[in-house]
Amino acid sequence: MPLIVQKYGGTSIADAERIKHVAQRIGAAHDKGNQVVAVVSAMGDTTDQLIELAHEINPAPAPREMDLLLSTGELVSCTLVAMALHGLGYPAIGLSGAQAGVRTDSTHRKARIVALEPERVTRELERGNIVIVAGFQGVTPDMDITTLGRGASDLTAVALAAALKAERCEIYTDVEGIYTADPHLVPEARKLKEIGYEEMLELASSGAKMQPRSIELAAVYQVPVLVTSSFAEVPGTLIHGGVTMELRNKVRGVAVDRNVAKITVLGVPDRPGIAASLFEPLAEVGVSVDTIVQNASVERVTDVTFTVARGDLHQALKVVEPVAKEIGARGCEAAQGLAKVSVVGTGMQNAPGYAAAMFRALYEAGINIEMITTSEIRITCIVAEDTVPAAVRALHKAFRLEEE
Ligand code: ASP
Ligand code: MG
Repeated sequence: MPLIVQKYGGTSIADAERIKHVAQRIGAAHDKGNQVVAVVSAMGDTTDQLIELAHEINPAPAPREMDLLLSTGELVSCTLVAMALHGLGYPAIGLSGAQAGVRTDSTHRKARIVALEPERVTRELERGNIVIVAGFQGVTPDMDITTLGRGASDLTAVALAAALKAERCEIYTDVEGIYTADPHLVPEARKLKEIGYEEMLELASSGAKMQPRSIELAAVYQVPVLVTSSFAEVPGTLIHGGVTMELRNKVRGVAVDRNVAKITVLGVPDRPGIAASLFEPLAEVGVSVDTIVQNASVERVTDVTFTVARGDLHQALKVVEPVAKEIGARGCEAAQGLAKVSVVGTGMQNAPGYAAAMFRALYEAGINIEMITTSEIRITCIVAEDTVPAAVRALHKAFRLEEE
């Protein structure tokens, strides 16, 4: 009997009505002769509300208690979905993450799965049950409950699919799949039928969002993941490893990341060890630096520009300003209001002309490029945030992404 792992996000089970609807969909998959495991998130905004409540009571809640608290959100939904299935006449059982065999380390709030021991799940399936698993949580060797990081019910689903060798993992969400661009910005954006894992990681801002670690895990274990709507009967987007590239447009989509701030250290003396002395202290405080540009020096001085997440800007400046002084730089400048616009596609590898076409499209739309970076399958331009809609539309058009 084929085994399918499904996952339903918070909006899909936000109230009693929606829970009953989801139960029908789970039941329908069972009726088709599948063994079904369904992983659920907490209802609606439950997790946010629990976090808020905890902070009202204590501004610095202990991580261990937080995890035990947050895990209740998913317990509520998994039991209610099981009850809804019973109401429809299906045999079903709800399991916590611990009962389902999700073993983790003890890094509370962002625990890593160290092993998945799904014997209980398998036993319940063999008994004919539909198994509803509380996502986002696991258990340490000391039997403390952990959570796996925000949005990590996706990770629970993919990990279970891998451990149970499921046919595929189906992610049910409030959008219909992955698009060539954010449909709010580009009305002509097209839903992709399929996409590779690497491309999905880069395109996560276009349509359905999946937790990045879950995509990485799916890639490692080659779990095919179908992303589709829990509200409409639509085909969705299949994320998998065997995407046929040759016949396709080599750019798959346009991605946007608005979480960008920039720091420039001016007049940095050009001598060995300077870059290390700038970036080591940032790493030490846990600020992750993204794009780095160092110009060729003129008269042995150069400018170094790099980007960080907006939330890290303040801390990054606090670290960098004294270091800049120490190494004899002229000063620091910070800028917010920036965004990254990227074109993504495995087909761009070793193919010339994509960067040039991107720069021309932005130029013709009157958009100034502040910085440029590339990876094997992505070209990124950093632009002013208010130019993002125009930039995305220009690129979507230039690479004719609306065409099949
Ligand atoms: N409920 C958790 C969160 O909101 C996990 C999830 O939704 O996947 O982060
Ligand atoms: Mg959630």
